[in-house]
Amino acid sequence: MTCIFCEILARRAPGSFIFEDDLCAAFMDIHPVTTGHLLVVPRRHAASLSELDPLDGERLFRVGQRCAAALRASGLPAEGVNFFLADGAAAGQDVFHVHLHVFPRFSGDGFGLRFPPGYGAFAARDELDEIASRLRDQWLNQ
Ligand code: AMP
Ligand code: ZN
Repeated sequence: MTCIFCEILARRAPGSFIFEDDLCAAFMDIHPVTTGHLLVVPRRHAASLSELDPLDGERLFRVGQRCAAALRASGLPAEGVNFFLADGAAAGQDVFHVHLHVFPRFSGDGFGLRFPPGYGAFAARDELDEIASRLRDQWLNQ
């Protein structure tokens, strides 16, 4: 199946690039959340975080930082910046080639996160400790 981000990176589909290097590129999102919305995309196709080369992941974050700095200095409304990465359909991933969203935020921009009912209550410490223990076990198995 054709991957739209691979097509853009190969210049077989249009893209408005602001940066590219040997490992990744940054181009404008076609459906911006706010003006200036960028996507940072590794050159090597990886459908999910589990497939992503850690070196590509490191570069993705570093290029994301530079995108944020460019947005803040651009004169576009950018009182803040959000990073967003959806890994898996349940997390909202639509394009299955890993990408980091970087978009400007400003008061009144209309964007927001919706939290589940009951959010805000403190979790019990023993429950947090139990989950942390389970995750430490997985850490060692990686
Ligand atoms: P996600 O839902 O996290 O997988 O995000 C996919 C993003 O890719 C969305 O924000 C889309 O607007 C964006 N997108 C899809 N097709 C294109 C394209 N041809 N050029 C630029 N951005 C795209
Ligand atoms: Zn791809």
